[in-house]
Amino acid sequence: MEKKAKRPCMLIVDDVEINRTILEEYFKDDYEILHAEDGQQALDVIEENNIDIILLDLVMPVMDGIEVLTRLKQNSRFASIPVVATTARNEVESEAKMMELGAADFITKPYHPTIVRCRVRNVMARLENEWRKIEQAEQKVQFLELSRKIGEDPLTHLYNREKFCTAAAELMQKNSDVKYAIVYLDISHFKVVNDLCDIETGNLVLKTAGACFAHYTKDRGICARLEADHFAICMPLDELKMDELISAVDEDMQMLVLPHTILFYAGVLPVENVFLPVDQMCDRAHMALSTVKDNYRKRYAFYDDKMRERMMDEQMILREMEYAIEQKQFTIYLQPIYSTVKQCDTSAEALVRWTHPTEGMISPDRFIPLFERNGFIVRLDHYVWEEVCRLLADERAKLGRVVPVSVNVSRLDFYDENLLDFFLGLMKKYDLEPWMIKLEVTESAYTDNPQQIMKTMKRFQEAGFKFLMDDFGSGYSSLSMLRNLPVNILKIDMKFVQEIVTSYRAAKIMEHIVQLAHDIKMDVVIEGVETKEQVEFLQDIGCDEIQGYYFSRPLPRDEYLERLAESPIVGESMELSEGW
Ligand code: C2E
Ligand code: CA
Ligand code: CA
Repeated sequence: MEKKAKRPCMLIVDDVEINRTILEEYFKDDYEILHAEDGQQALDVIEENNIDIILLDLVMPVMDGIEVLTRLKQNSRFASIPVVATTARNEVESEAKMMELGAADFITKPYHPTIVRCRVRNVMARLENEWRKIEQAEQKVQFLELSRKIGEDPLTHLYNREKFCTAAAELMQKNSDVKYAIVYLDISHFKVVNDLCDIETGNLVLKTAGACFAHYTKDRGICARLEADHFAICMPLDELKMDELISAVDEDMQMLVLPHTILFYAGVLPVENVFLPVDQMCDRAHMALSTVKDNYRKRYAFYDDKMRERMMDEQMILREMEYAIEQKQFTIYLQPIYSTVKQCDTSAEALVRWTHPTEGMISPDRFIPLFERNGFIVRLDHYVWEEVCRLLADERAKLGRVVPVSVNVSRLDFYDENLLDFFLGLMKKYDLEPWMIKLEVTESAYTDNPQQIMKTMKRFQEAGFKFLMDDFGSGYSSLSMLRNLPVNILKIDMKFVQEIVTSYRAAKIMEHIVQLAHDIKMDVVIEGVETKEQVEFLQDIGCDEIQGYYFSRPLPRDEYLERLAESPIVGESMELSEGW
């Protein structure tokens, strides 16, 4: 009886009794069999019994198979019962219709026992498979729900963020005589792993890392996966050996033999105030982490208050930069470049300043590196160049002459294919000529994408612009760079100048660089000149274009114009501006 009750129930619908009997013969061992002679009867039987599968004839009196199937599919209680249509051989049109309506399969009369059994078995297997999938999904949801409730990360079985925050606070407050640390760990470019491999491999990485951190922490503290590839540890500071922790996780990652090197970076917060919310402690540890992320030599950093100030400062800058440019809070200062021979300013460098409404004057060292990282430098540079052109047009109107100004061009600016067009547009708009603007490019920019930069520079030169190589000697300048790059003027880095008086070698090198530059028809500007001694030395070795506090600090534009007005008219500025 028991066994019989558990058998699935099959309904055979056919108006011809012999057909029903044949089918019953095939299935009676595995199924409970019910019969119906027409469509209406079939619907009644379905209403009263739990049917698992229906074999449904197409052509019947009272109500045909198509009508039955249509009604079943419209009724949510019965729509999922699989229906296998039984048809005569030449009913292709109706077969197609039945399949369209959602029949699971069809069998053709006269019946072939093996085919009939196979088709029904397949239909049932397919259905079971679907049920299993639904069940698994339901189980997964329940599992995740449960994990969340008990505060566990389902993948690594470490604590989740919420549980970590409460458990860490409890741990630190309970042992107030021990000094704790919060470690924040994060994989650099984890997305690449997920992209290059598959989700499974990504999960394996996370599980392995989780196990490694748990093993390292042991019962000394607790650890968690906060989210994605972010982990945290809370343990006594004097037991935390960061080099050991990083080597341990490196070793475990190497064992996985992945196509991409997995590097964990970490930030450590030595906890001063155990009552600070752990979420905020994690933020601070994360702040420390972001100072070393993607650094080849340093894989972890400790948080300190200066870091916090710097971060806050950076955030303020990023928050306000757009508004500041709209409000014209950025202004240009001009630092004259003086010729000791001609005894006048032969050009100047435009240097940007940010006059902030509450912070006062912000020097470019505080924001330029940030803008170079986030790309905003391109907007700022365009703004500065236009300001310079405006100044030059003013200068010509007021003084009847123009002293050329050099502007800084950032590495990122060269990615813009229309860079030259932009400058030419400015020349036209302000009725200026290319010799009035010189472009300063730092030597490090050339190493980035030398071919493209060189091509762009040549086009600029053909249009009449001149280039200065800024900060020459500060990085990896090489003689081949001097040979290949189309620069007209070398601007020697100020670190050199600072050494010439104290170091014989530095002095000799400077002397020869100036000589070499002149030999290959390049001019030299020395920047950062602060003392009389330096000026005298530079004059002795034949270098006369000098920029530095000794002659003038960078000046606000009006002061600069006043200085020019008082300066004698000599040199390039005079002869080239005769046309005005
Ligand atoms: P830089 O292009 O090498 O500019 C020279 C820096 O040295 C300027 O600092 C200038 O004020 C300073 N300086 C000039 N004479 C002396 C001196 O005798 N002694 C000392 N100790 N320093 C001197 P500043 O204006 O703070 O600019 C710093 C850097 O910011 C610049 O270095 C440049 O790389 C960047 N920068 C400034 N304005 C712009 C700009 O409009 N666009 C871009 N892309 N970068 C800019
Ligand atoms: Ca410069
Ligand atoms: Ca420089």
